[in-house]
Amino acid sequence: MSVPVTGADYLVRAAVQKLESLRAAGMTHLPKPPAVVSSVIPVVQAAPVAPSETMPKKSSAPSEKPIPSGPAAALAEIQKRVAACTRCAELASTRTQTVFGAGNPQARLVFLGEAPGADEDRQGEPFVGRAGKLLTDIIEKGMGLKRSDVYICNILRCRPPGNRNPLPVEAANCREYLDAQLAIIQPEFICCLGSIAAHNLLGETTPIGKLRGRFLDYQGIKVLCTYHPAYVLRNPPAKKQVWEDIQILMAEMGLEVPNKKG
Ligand code: SF4
Repeated sequence: MSVPVTGADYLVRAAVQKLESLRAAGMTHLPKPPAVVSSVIPVVQAAPVAPSETMPKKSSAPSEKPIPSGPAAALAEIQKRVAACTRCAELASTRTQTVFGAGNPQARLVFLGEAPGADEDRQGEPFVGRAGKLLTDIIEKGMGLKRSDVYICNILRCRPPGNRNPLPVEAANCREYLDAQLAIIQPEFICCLGSIAAHNLLGETTPIGKLRGRFLDYQGIKVLCTYHPAYVLRNPPAKKQVWEDIQILMAEMGLEVPNKKG
C-alpha cells in the first residue's frame, strides 16, 4: 500500500542519493556546508496531482491509495531555483534560459539525456529539436505512450556553448538537481540516452555499446541505456538497436510489444 509522499521523504531520498553520488565521485567525506541538499529540495504542501490516464503510477485502487501530493509543486519549486542557478559560470552567462525537465511528475519512466542544445535553449524544453522529434516518435509511435506520460530531463540544465560535451565539474554541479528530480518523481525506470547520460548517472565508463540492451540498477531504479537519438540521426542503422532496447524496456514495463516494428 502506498503512502503519501511528504517533503521529508524527498529530503531523505535526495540526501541518500546525494551521498551516493558523492561517493561515486570519489569523495570520502562530506563537503561543507552540510545542509546543501535541504537548500535545494523544497518542503511543500501542494494540491493533489491527477495521475496520467494512460500511464497510471503503480496505483490500481485510487480510493484505497491516496494520490501522493506535492510532486508537481516540488518540481516547480526546484525549477525556480535552477532558473537562478549560476554554479557553472560559463553556462550561466551563455544560456538563453535553463532547461529543467518536462513531463509527468509521477512518471514511471524518466528519459535522461545529456544537455540542452540550441533548440532546447531557445524554447526552454528538453528534446524539442530533431533528436527530440525522434524521441517523441519513439515514445508515441514506438511505445504507444504520450510524451506527457513520461518525464524527460538531462544531466545538465544549461546548454554548453557550441554543444560541447558537459565538463565533469558541470555535471557534478547539476547533479543535485537531477537527484532532487528523481527523488520527487520516484520513477521505476530510467532510460539513459547516450553514453554521457549513462556514465554520469551510473558512474560508469563502459562504452554505451556494452551497457545497452540490459537492465542496470540505480538505487533500486531499473536503468536501461541506449543510443542518443542524435546519434541515431547521424547513424541510421543504430535505429534497429534502439528499437531492440526500447522493446526490452516495454516488456519490463508491461507494455504491449508489437511483433515487428520499423
Ligand atoms: S548546468 Fe546546472 S549547475 Fe550548471 S549553471 Fe546550469 S543549472 Fe546550474
